Amino acid sequence: MLVLVINSGSSSLKYQVRDTDSQELLTKGLIDRIGDVIPDHTAALEELSTRLRRELDGRSIDAVGHRVVHGGERFSEPVLVNNEIVRSIERLSPLAPLHNPASAMGIRAVHDKWPSIPQVAVFDTAFHRTLPERAWRYALPDSLYRRHGIRRYGFHGTSYGFVAPAAARFLGIEPERFRAVIAHLGNGASVAAIQDGKSIDTSMGFTPLEGLVMGTRSGDVDPSILVFLARQGYDADTLDNMLNRESGLKALAGESDMRSIEEAADAGDERSRLALAVAAYRLAKYIGAYHVAVGGAQAVVFTAGIGENSGKFRELVVDQLGPLGIRLDPEANLARGKQARLISTPDSAIPALVVPTDEEEAIAEATAAVVAGSRKPAASF
Ligand code: ADP
Repeated sequence: MLVLVINSGSSSLKYQVRDTDSQELLTKGLIDRIGDVIPDHTAALEELSTRLRRELDGRSIDAVGHRVVHGGERFSEPVLVNNEIVRSIERLSPLAPLHNPASAMGIRAVHDKWPSIPQVAVFDTAFHRTLPERAWRYALPDSLYRRHGIRRYGFHGTSYGFVAPAAARFLGIEPERFRAVIAHLGNGASVAAIQDGKSIDTSMGFTPLEGLVMGTRSGDVDPSILVFLARQGYDADTLDNMLNRESGLKALAGESDMRSIEEAADAGDERSRLALAVAAYRLAKYIGAYHVAVGGAQAVVFTAGIGENSGKFRELVVDQLGPLGIRLDPEANLARGKQARLISTPDSAIPALVVPTDEEEAIAEATAAVVAGSRKPAASF
């Protein structure tokens, strides 16, 4: 099946075309400046259609899979899209104001352009629908949950759903019995506690702001800081911008990109060293906590841009995991490659692994599976 994978943002549309039989990536690209050079998502689809005619040599798309950030409490699995599903994605917009409206626009634009092609929505939150209530509840008045849906949702679910079984298979463990702590470390970063192959806790919460120190996001802070600042006259937009775009590594090191921070730290820059230390310490604490949560992890897994590529950051984290009996193999840690690999010593009590993630492949596979399993040939709008 040829699957077009779409990640629509408010001003950009990222796409890939995958052959899910051969697992081949046929083409990928980005259409940006929507709302500026390209007037809207409908015009972006025209541009995409022109490009695909050229790039696919006349082969046609069988299905479209969309990355959708927020599936709320409703969506625990990828679904075939129809009009009611798009409206439901739109209704969840208060929980993901930047992302969900853009996904809905992308879905509608595809439907207008290719009405007979089945579309599937794959949700970032879905993998975490298995969290027990003790993990998703905040200790806040119940009315906040009932009226506003304030609870932990968790994100990066598509990545965890891809990496967890891959790590289990690498270790020769049945995915349904796997217990692990997985750290997805990209510009956004989170950790997930996996028990019996399912997510039972995760560090991102109501929004992708909670948890680890990220490129430009603070992760965990004392909520009273916000109350204090509100009393000083900071308004909601200022606080939102500060916590999401001006904090994290950027606030500590002066820049958000891990490669640049590592280079600066190697050159002796103290702020960059501190940034790495704060971020690594936070992650090590979460790994310790989630080791307990899953009843003893069978693996600690690193994935995404930093997790897969930064040997230095992994070393800073794993060096703190001695009390769990985890020992880093410094040589294996510095090896490179696109395959799953061990980075701990043979006598490490728990193996530490690098397992590359591929969210687009996961979306393409999920889309093909939903379309193959559905009796209706195309969604009705
Ligand atoms: P996104 O969340 O945007 O998908 P990625 O998963 O691509 O992010 O991760 C981006 C992060 O990975 C950046 O901080 C980047 O510096 C870091 N990164 C990528 N390659 C390397 C590398 N070779 N060494 C260190 N960090 C790297």
